[in-house]
Amino acid sequence: MSPIDIRKAQLLDPDIMPIMIAVQDQRKPEFQEIAENSNKTRSLWFQFNSLVLEGGVLYRKFEHPSGLKEKEELQLILPSKLVKTTVKTYHEQLGVGNHFGVTKTLAYLKRFFWWPGMFEDTYEIVSQCKICAKYKGPKQHTKVPLKLFQEGVLHGRWHVDICGPINPKSKEGHEYILVAVEAFSGWPVVVPLYKQTADEIAQALITHVFSIFGAPQSLLTDQGKAFDSTLFQEIMELYQIKKLRTTAFHPATNGKAERWIKTLKQHLMMLVEQDRDNWPKYLPFIAQAYRNLPHSSHKFSPYEVMFGAAMRSPLDADRGSPPKNMDMHKLYPMWVRKTMQDIHEVVANMNKKAAKRMKAYYDRNATLSPFAEGDLVYLYYPRRVKGISAKLITRWEGPYRIINLINECNARIERVDNPNKRLIVHIDRLARCPEEETDVNKGDDMRNAWLLFIE
Ligand SMILES: [Zn+2]
Repeated sequence: MSPIDIRKAQLLDPDIMPIMIAVQDQRKPEFQEIAENSNKTRSLWFQFNSLVLEGGVLYRKFEHPSGLKEKEELQLILPSKLVKTTVKTYHEQLGVGNHFGVTKTLAYLKRFFWWPGMFEDTYEIVSQCKICAKYKGPKQHTKVPLKLFQEGVLHGRWHVDICGPINPKSKEGHEYILVAVEAFSGWPVVVPLYKQTADEIAQALITHVFSIFGAPQSLLTDQGKAFDSTLFQEIMELYQIKKLRTTAFHPATNGKAERWIKTLKQHLMMLVEQDRDNWPKYLPFIAQAYRNLPHSSHKFSPYEVMFGAAMRSPLDADRGSPPKNMDMHKLYPMWVRKTMQDIHEVVANMNKKAAKRMKAYYDRNATLSPFAEGDLVYLYYPRRVKGISAKLITRWEGPYRIINLINECNARIERVDNPNKRLIVHIDRLARCPEEETDVNKGDDMRNAWLLFIE
């Protein structure tokens, strides 16, 4: 829509029109004058001092939480008749919304729009989305106190994980996805893989991460075999990267990547619906949506943290925003540097606070290790069910015996019927096994019945 069309729509909206006229006349009405008007008009009146007309279109000045003047946005006051299509578009559009939930969709919309009742409208429209209802998965639960992880600087640490096998394979034969997330900015990289060999993973990291962003100080991975291979170790040495590892399946230490993979899977499942063997072509759109999504507390998107400016997205053209008067070609490099410094300062503080908050929240329900050496336990081992749904179902295997407790979080365990099978696992994945139940060949039915008992 052109600015003229938007202006027309605003003037035709009975909730907006009286306030728009008042802004044009530069005269704030007394509250009594508009007291008889609709709720929405009254809400707009409360925003009066933030409202401006640019090119005849009504906007709300939106100050950035960082206080940075350059980051001040103009939010278009959205007429009622455009609400539904706008919210739906931002929620569904590839590379923009990709079926984000209410909070993320709202955060996105707030960047460009404001209108009275925008939370309620967004909530209603998103919660009625049929595709979302079909694919949103269950929440995960964890119990052990979280080790405090702080994201210090840009390119300090990347989280890496492999997602898959994806069923169906792509037409070209891709079966896995490499997911890498830069910890400071949340910048994601996703690459389709054929197999998850050390060779292929290393190649993907070199091409899509190291060659673009440089080698990070450290790389956090899960227990995948490929990451332990000699080849992979050699690459890490070559690039002087410290390899950290998480305990398998425990989401807290690899939180960002884990959460990302979970969301990525949900998104993929929604998108492969229409075009099942072409799923790799959707990966860039999903990555783009995340790169452009404002962070819930500091409001900078990963893109801004990386590059210091907002990304242009396909929908911005509709926004009708006035061109910014910036004659700073000569000063541009200095301006970028200053902006980046400011952004990084805000993000570093927020990350520190968020890490503390997350730890406090997480520890509320935490209990210290309930196990002792020699205890007999079952190991939680989520496995993929064949079929497109890719749901994880509850599976327990074992029993195992605890050889020793390495710390409050991790235990070394050994399979009772196969002492060669030793693992280090997070104790969240363990459940006590009654001593008499050592028959390892019990069927899943038995174990599921037992699971019901402990829950
Ligand atoms: Zn949806």
